[in-house]
Amino acid sequence: MRTRTVDIAIVGSGIVGLAHAYEAAQRGLSVVLFERNLQAVGASIRNFGLVWPIGQRPGKMLDRALRSRTVWEELSHAAGFWMHKNGSIHLGYHPDELAVLEEFVSRYGHEGYDVEMLKPAEVKSRSALVREEGLLAGLYSSTEATVYSREAIQKIHTYLKEELKVLIQYGQTVHEINMPYVFSSTGDRWQASKVIVCSGADFESLYPEYFRSVGITKCKLQMMKSHAIGSALGPTLCAGLTLRHYDSFKDCPSTVKVSGRYDQTHPEFAENGIHVLLAQNENLELIIGDSHYYGNSPLPFDSEEINRLILKYLDTFTVVDNLQVEEKWHGIYAKVPGKTEIVEEVEPGVLIVNALGGAGMTLSFGLAQEVFDEHIISPGVVNS
Ligand SMILES: Cc1cc2nc3c(=O)[nH]c(=O)nc-3n(C[C@H](O)[C@H](O)[C@H](O)COP(=O)(O)OP(=O)(O)OC[C@H]3O[C@@H](n4cnc5c(N)ncnc54)[C@H](O)[C@@H]3O)c2cc1C
Repeated sequence: MRTRTVDIAIVGSGIVGLAHAYEAAQRGLSVVLFERNLQAVGASIRNFGLVWPIGQRPGKMLDRALRSRTVWEELSHAAGFWMHKNGSIHLGYHPDELAVLEEFVSRYGHEGYDVEMLKPAEVKSRSALVREEGLLAGLYSSTEATVYSREAIQKIHTYLKEELKVLIQYGQTVHEINMPYVFSSTGDRWQASKVIVCSGADFESLYPEYFRSVGITKCKLQMMKSHAIGSALGPTLCAGLTLRHYDSFKDCPSTVKVSGRYDQTHPEFAENGIHVLLAQNENLELIIGDSHYYGNSPLPFDSEEINRLILKYLDTFTVVDNLQVEEKWHGIYAKVPGKTEIVEEVEPGVLIVNALGGAGMTLSFGLAQEVFDEHIISPGVVNS
């Protein structure tokens, strides 16, 4: 059996694995990255591509998101992928939604967010796709950014491989870790000082007992992509349903009223975990979603009814002529209810980093910096 030696071995090449590989390489560590597929095809290429700091609580989480955004910017230049710093607008059409937007500004306006309230005409001047009828106000935030995840993930892979000399092993499943060795499905054995397991929604193969013990679960989300609409969206758009989705807004007491109203008038949204974001990629195609189903064996079948509900809600806050959906898919991520991530040393030298839920694109790079600061120092001086 051939044995090769590196400082760091990483399992999984979604955004979490890539962020840790990037951080390791930046610190001068040698890295092998295992991906069981021939390319990354998990949650990280199926998302909106949104870097969404406004959804994070002030303090540690917002700081992590903003540091991630800086890394996204560096990498978009270095690896040559599209990144649009387009910001976001949360739209308010009902007095209770307006109350949340105003509360957000008064509670958090000085906590590191960069937000301002816009009048309807100002909203419309920033995005022609906004439905003006009934609009009371918009909360503009400058910190959100968009990448086209299919492009970005693939180009980060290429950059890590070609420029940072990360050894990416495609088509290799890691089936056993017995420190200091990692065994992959090709029969190779790698010796590493530290192993980082970033296996996403596959938490059945490696350390299943640990994952079970923390109550990890899967979440299935349905998504759509439109034809190229020929005009720019401007900031990413969302409305009332999103106010009850992200932690930063959920913490505003006035959100309870919004949530209660939707539950009464449209229980089908909560039943299917629907809130709606409208993003746009560099080809001017719209990325639309999403729904949330929690459970450990999500069915592979997508529901047209859920897609219809998403589009119905989208129509309440946007005007898109002749919207044609050209692709539909679902993605699955791992989540531990009530936790923003898992970082755990499951045995000496083996770290699990997983369960970033719906915010892996927003948080992974910042989290990887913290993981390396805390657990891993520099070449040849890897903490144990
Ligand atoms: C529809 C959808 C929309 C989302 N939108 C956003 C968004 O706009 N912004 C945001 O911040 N977040 C978003 N998220 C969340 C984000 O996509 C996830 O948090 C993130 O992609 C998780 O990354 P990951 O690396 O853990 O998992 P994945 O991307 O699933 O990667 C895990 C990888 O590990 C590999 N692997 C697993 N086990 C092994 C093994 N034993 N050996 C070798 N390889 C292995 C798998 O093949 C896979 O490629 C969204 C998620 C979904 C599903």
